Amino acid sequence: MNVVVDQEICIGCGACEEICPAVFHLNETVGKSEVIDPEACEFVGCCEAAEENCPVEAITIEE
Ligand code: SF4
Repeated sequence: MNVVVDQEICIGCGACEEICPAVFHLNETVGKSEVIDPEACEFVGCCEAAEENCPVEAITIEE
């Protein structure tokens, strides 16, 4: 499993970090979310919720 944030689409709302801080981090300098640990997605169980709640669908989970 791999998770990717499309930096072109991300609007930096911070929802993904709020929902799943083990995997996503909002880089406030650039105003974009970054994936800090894509492999954690497999274990933490919050990646899907983050993907579903991203308002601009910038998060993709690849099986
Ligand atoms: S929820 Fe989506 S738009 Fe908001 S910071 Fe995360 S990736 Fe970016």
